[in-house]
Amino acid sequence: MPPMSCANGYTNSHGNKPLFSFGVISDVQYADIPDGRSFLGVPRYYRHSILVLQRAVRMWNDHKHLKFSVNYGDIVDGFCPKEESRNAVEKVVLEFEKFDGLVYHMIGNHCLYNLPRNSLITTLKMPGRAYYDFSPTLGYRFVVLDAYDVSAIGWPQDHPLTVEAMNILRDKNPNSDKNSPDGLVGLERRFLKFNGAVGKEQMDWLDGVLRNSTEQSQKVVICCHLPLDPDAATPEALLWNYEEVMDVIHRYKCVKACFAGHDHKGGYSIDSHGVHHRVLEAALECPPESNAFGYVDAYDDRLVLFGTDRMASTEMVFGPEDID
Ligand SMILES: [Zn+2]
Repeated sequence: MPPMSCANGYTNSHGNKPLFSFGVISDVQYADIPDGRSFLGVPRYYRHSILVLQRAVRMWNDHKHLKFSVNYGDIVDGFCPKEESRNAVEKVVLEFEKFDGLVYHMIGNHCLYNLPRNSLITTLKMPGRAYYDFSPTLGYRFVVLDAYDVSAIGWPQDHPLTVEAMNILRDKNPNSDKNSPDGLVGLERRFLKFNGAVGKEQMDWLDGVLRNSTEQSQKVVICCHLPLDPDAATPEALLWNYEEVMDVIHRYKCVKACFAGHDHKGGYSIDSHGVHHRVLEAALECPPESNAFGYVDAYDDRLVLFGTDRMASTEMVFGPEDID
């Protein structure tokens, strides 16, 4: 089917040809288990989600002009039986590989429930670590963050980053179940075991990439499994140190948008510095025959997300002071 016929809302935003386009999907969370519900009672369609991914790849290929696609993490659900984890991850990766282009992945908490991070880094063809950047065209750079850098999941239990994460959780979350936000108030509700933080080394690296992008007059899109803005997501979904990351981002003017997953209902905001935050709706929560994926047209002055079914379309226009 032609991509435009299934996208929500916009037709071509202003007649010009985009500089490039890319596909997006998040939270496939496939598992070969019966449908279930989140702890809030939202239905989850574990077997159907891989069909959503198949339809996404078909749509991306039919589009014919997508330069790459980005998967925002959580490809296999934590309820996947452990002996099935490797098979399930490989099955999903195989579907991504049917796309006629590169797919850039990031690690989500559910990925880490299934496989150790080193194994994921290899399987998802990441460049030796889970944070990296790439430049699809001279004027743009994509920065993929590792939201589970400081994390109580994924590293060996005695790893310094696990210890650091457990110290943060002990300090911030008095519950014995560190996945429970009971008693935590407002934005403090983000201090849950299924979230994580960007560590010092990665923070320095991010600062360097943004400085370099500024020198090269590149526009930057940040990709992170965990949302970075409280107005685009529930407090329980935010990166532990989102403020620190946003402080680095706001030091420069090059970052135009941050895309995330993890908060399945999706969200959108523009922060105080004019940075767009778009949290993508989850493939997992699509009832049979419905979809949540899309593609983005990138221009000099905006990004236009064309969403399918449950993924809303969003036009993200850059502030006038930010356009070259
Ligand atoms: Zn997640």
